[in-house]
Amino acid sequence: MFVFKKVSDLTNYLDQARATGKEIGFVPTMGALHQGHIALIDAAAAGTDLVVCSIFVNPAQFNEPEDLKKYPRPIEQDLALLEAAGCAAVFLPSIEEVYPAGLPVIADLDIGYLDTVLEGSARPGHFQGVVAVVRRLLSIVQPGKLYLGQKDVQQCMVIKQLVAVEHIPVDLEVVPTRREADGLAMSSRNTRLTEPQRVIAGVIYQCLVSIQVKQHTLPFSVVQKECTELLEKKGFKVDYLLLADAGTLELLADFDAGREMVAVVAVYLGEVRLIDNLVL
Ligand code: AMP
Repeated sequence: MFVFKKVSDLTNYLDQARATGKEIGFVPTMGALHQGHIALIDAAAAGTDLVVCSIFVNPAQFNEPEDLKKYPRPIEQDLALLEAAGCAAVFLPSIEEVYPAGLPVIADLDIGYLDTVLEGSARPGHFQGVVAVVRRLLSIVQPGKLYLGQKDVQQCMVIKQLVAVEHIPVDLEVVPTRREADGLAMSSRNTRLTEPQRVIAGVIYQCLVSIQVKQHTLPFSVVQKECTELLEKKGFKVDYLLLADAGTLELLADFDAGREMVAVVAVYLGEVRLIDNLVL
């Protein structure tokens, strides 16, 4: 597995691969890798000829400087996981390589509604930071396919919009969320949970499944109330637990059999904010 820190070294390598007809599959990450990230590497390995993974903790998408400082960076462990998963090349750029003109300061892609709901309203500026880094990484790697996780459903929609508006020639592949045995979506934040918090964290997925199961028999408001009460009783603070159109994230007041829907949730367990979703 090759490890590149410079844009020019990576692009030389990728130009050669492309010249021999290889299709590149790209998996952008912020590191602290777990089996959820490896699900993306596996999908890229199955769907393309050469897998490139980037590890870059993107300052532009953090709301709290303290979170950025505390973000885990277990790089040796990450490289070992990627090598074992069959990743061909890893891009480990410095901030200057990614943002040669300095950090982006203004929002420059109109993602409209997506910037105002759910994670957009909870984390102002976050998606503009994501857009900035993904646009730059796509221009460097120029992959045939880009792999993103369903876990971050709103991020997938934002990037879909970026690709469409800017006519970026890449196919977006959304990979199903990889979960722990109790249903908890894998996330680097899970390691911050205490043991008792980790034991109850599976309730998040239980709630999503109960929304899925009850969609034909109860109004959403009833299931939403049941789930919120259960979560609060267990010690969660519920940020949101909502129903949305799976294609647009337009919020829905009730189940609608005529649409594909997604249940979306964000909760706090102590200081740790966890998000998840389930397409119904
Ligand atoms: P991050 O390193 O948190 O920026 O995540 C990098 C990519 O991994 C994003 O596309 C995430 O949606 C995806 N991802 C994170 N957790 C999971 C998971 N449990 N299953 C599938 N994909 C995931």
